[in-house]
Amino acid sequence: MKAIAVTPKQTNSIRLVEMDTPKVSDVPDGLGVLVEVLRVGACGTDREINNGEYGVAPDGFDFLVLGHENFGRVAEVGANVRDLKPGDYVVATVRRPRGSSIYDKIGEQDFTTDNVYFERGISRLHGYMAEFYAESTNFLVKIPPAIAEIAVLLEPLSIVEKGLKQASDIQERLKIWQPKTAAVLGVGNVGLLTVMALRMRGYEVHGFGLDKPEGFMNAELCHAIGATYDSTAGTSIAASTEKYGQYDLIFECTGYSPIIFDAMQSLNENGILVLASVTGGTRKTDQVPSDLINQMFVLGNRAMVGTVNAARENFEAGVKDLALCEAMYAGWLRRMLTHKIEGLENYGQAFDILNNSAKYKAIKTYFEVAKI
Ligand SMILES: [Zn+2]
Repeated sequence: MKAIAVTPKQTNSIRLVEMDTPKVSDVPDGLGVLVEVLRVGACGTDREINNGEYGVAPDGFDFLVLGHENFGRVAEVGANVRDLKPGDYVVATVRRPRGSSIYDKIGEQDFTTDNVYFERGISRLHGYMAEFYAESTNFLVKIPPAIAEIAVLLEPLSIVEKGLKQASDIQERLKIWQPKTAAVLGVGNVGLLTVMALRMRGYEVHGFGLDKPEGFMNAELCHAIGATYDSTAGTSIAASTEKYGQYDLIFECTGYSPIIFDAMQSLNENGILVLASVTGGTRKTDQVPSDLINQMFVLGNRAMVGTVNAARENFEAGVKDLALCEAMYAGWLRRMLTHKIEGLENYGQAFDILNNSAKYKAIKTYFEVAKI
């Protein structure tokens, strides 16, 4: 079968490789499922791995098959698989509990304290930019046919779902928390999914990005789902509270770390700030009003939490939000799927879009590997 691979830590090594098709029997205990990949999303993580920034090949290989945002159809199941049958649609989770930390041992590998990760398409395990993959049924989430067209958005949404679950778990410290307003910093792919997930929870949502709203499709999508959009080119998040009030929840996914200090000053009493950007650079920031921020967090019982990766339950919550969004705002999620690449062999096109996403106005670029 065909797959898209890179040589990790080597710049622009992306290429098509030919591999043996995996087998159900590759997975022990009769729990294997062979999945035909239908669609696979491409994102900044794939771009950064192809840039040589990170990524690790599996043991015994000098290349890594890319791809973590997946959607497929069950082709064959092992003898002990009860919950899936051929023809079912599935999305696979990404991180596997192969580490040595207590969190890996209890199946909470998204909270691993190891810094060696086992993630399909990212680190030590081949990904989903292939025609087939085999996986244990334990790591597959069943997808209702009604959301098949948009289910390739589930993996990025799972990151959002985990962040929001962390926020609500932490807020159980309050006997009553009835959040009303939220700000989402960054309205790219993950930001728009956050706007959606918060709208599904009934929040008044305010999206923020660098771009001017005129002709900006992401801003249009905010409006179409009942959220506002403002450009931070002219105003800070803290200044926006004069218009919208302080926010009960802020979700940060811009990749621009200085903005978190602005966000910290924009939280309501008892509010929570969720940080979801991975900022691997060395940026430093000064002019932080540290007395004010500290005072606000102490006297206002504010909280801040970082979040990464996702557990199976977060994928399952995402399935429900995708279905609810389709029911409430039919077609909205499909508008996020801006760039379809037909066939794995056209990876050059996909990475050109990823490398120039502003030029292409891309929200989500994905491969159609086979027809739904
Ligand atoms: Zn991704």
